[in-house]
Amino acid sequence: MQTKIVLDENQLPKQWYNIIPDLQGPLEPVINPQTLKPVTPQELQAIFPMSLIEQEVSTERWIDIPDEVREIYKLWRPAPLYRAHRLEKALGTPAKIYYKYEGVSPAGSHKPNSAIPQAYYNKQAGIRRLATETGAGQWGSSLALACSMFGLECTVYMVKVSCTQKPYRKSLMELWGAKVIPSPSNLTAAGRSILAEHPDSPGSLGIAISEAVEDAASHADTNYALGSVLNHVCLHQTVIGLEAKQQMAIAGDYPDVVIGCCGGGSNFAGIAFPFLADRANGKQVRCLAVEPASCPTLTKGVYAFDYGDTAQMAPISKMYTLGHDFMPPGIHAGGLRYHGASSLVSQLYNAGQIEARAFRQNACFEAAVLFSRNEGIVPAPESSHAVRAAVDEALLAKEEGKEKTILFGLSGHGQLDMVAYDTYLSGNLEDYEYPEESIRQSLGNLPKV
Ligand SMILES: *Cc1c(COP(=O)(O)O)cnc(C)c1O
Repeated sequence: MQTKIVLDENQLPKQWYNIIPDLQGPLEPVINPQTLKPVTPQELQAIFPMSLIEQEVSTERWIDIPDEVREIYKLWRPAPLYRAHRLEKALGTPAKIYYKYEGVSPAGSHKPNSAIPQAYYNKQAGIRRLATETGAGQWGSSLALACSMFGLECTVYMVKVSCTQKPYRKSLMELWGAKVIPSPSNLTAAGRSILAEHPDSPGSLGIAISEAVEDAASHADTNYALGSVLNHVCLHQTVIGLEAKQQMAIAGDYPDVVIGCCGGGSNFAGIAFPFLADRANGKQVRCLAVEPASCPTLTKGVYAFDYGDTAQMAPISKMYTLGHDFMPPGIHAGGLRYHGASSLVSQLYNAGQIEARAFRQNACFEAAVLFSRNEGIVPAPESSHAVRAAVDEALLAKEEGKEKTILFGLSGHGQLDMVAYDTYLSGNLEDYEYPEESIRQSLGNLPKV
């Protein structure tokens, strides 16, 4: 009875899968927030290298993974695929449950899969420093790691409250050589204007994005890096699903349903897009994106053009959105608290190619604890959403007496999120109501494009 399906290093994919040529409709344009016209590659070059701008709109189905990137991927990739024998038994389900584990990366999540190539392409373009933002610190620590590998400097604007709430991710970033700046800071005009009005501002992801983008745009040797949402980030993450397909074939199985949690959408894209390629060729496979009920972008948002950030500095794109000034409740799955979703994921959802569900955090932690007590690994609070959905699919299979093969993405481990588990285990974890009124308000502020 095989538990882990591991690939050899020479089976690490040599190319990423680009879903753009397999979309049913054309790619929606990205709009410049100042001119309200489609952005030009020249405008994007102020903050991104040309190679990543090209990947953003590429119509090549397969894009080579540079050798230098593959060499670094090998520090933890190929990542293991597990068969959840013990969880299946605990649930008494006829379903087979598999999970692809991304917690084996040095940062403990899938995010280095894109941080490494982003640092590589910026280094190739002669960039000396990268600036970015981070909330709970998963992306900041992944980019810090990537920059240290390529000898780049890294500046991370970290939401001020998170610096005190998540001190160990700050330590990780500093250990990997990054400079961590609590945001809002007095180093940027965006930060100074917030501080002038609110000296005690706890900060927000939107403010931190504005600071990082301003830093990059105002320094010729500095670029900006984003950890999710963009097409090139989804592209880099497909290494997850491409490995999982090989591993499922070794196990002699194929999933009926592929499940991933969805914040900005790159993790879901990573596990699901390679399977959607099969769906485009007539294969029966469902792909399910899972989000928090308190930040229900796909299930309750609208499909419209909106800003990528609160400060309206980031490009406008077509996506499922709750409104760029929507402030989600402070759930523990910080990585899923984004007002929008990747435009690729949004386009697929709008076309009925993928499904979405939303869960409250207590239900997710309940599934995560059951998972940990059987499989051992402690899921990240974000990943616990995928665990919940997989458990529900398995219980449904039991109810219906059906055999079913379930694959879910375990996007990271939660060993730096023990405060969240403490809160759950002590019975103090709050479930937030669906914030209908504040979503209604923020949807009134969409840009007129
Ligand atoms: C950031 C994060 C997510 C959300 O990723 P998206 O690609 O933005 O959807 C999921 N799981 C973990 C562990 C994360 O760190």
